[in-house]
Amino acid sequence: MDIRLNDILRMKKAHPCGCADWVVLRVGADFRLRCRGCGHEVFGPRSRFERNVKAVLRDDDAPA
Ligand SMILES: [Zn+2]
Repeated sequence: MDIRLNDILRMKKAHPCGCADWVVLRVGADFRLRCRGCGHEVFGPRSRFERNVKAVLRDDDAPA
């Protein structure tokens, strides 16, 4: 799965705040993501997040 810095990950399961979109803050063996709804940040192994990704949204022309 091609995931880059500043991509938006749309998850299959929404965050409790109701938002399913997360901004990628760090990539590598571990990911750091920030919820676009409430600003909550999570950190953990890439594989754990990849399982839950429904779509990768990328807009190279507009800042996130
Ligand atoms: Zn949230």
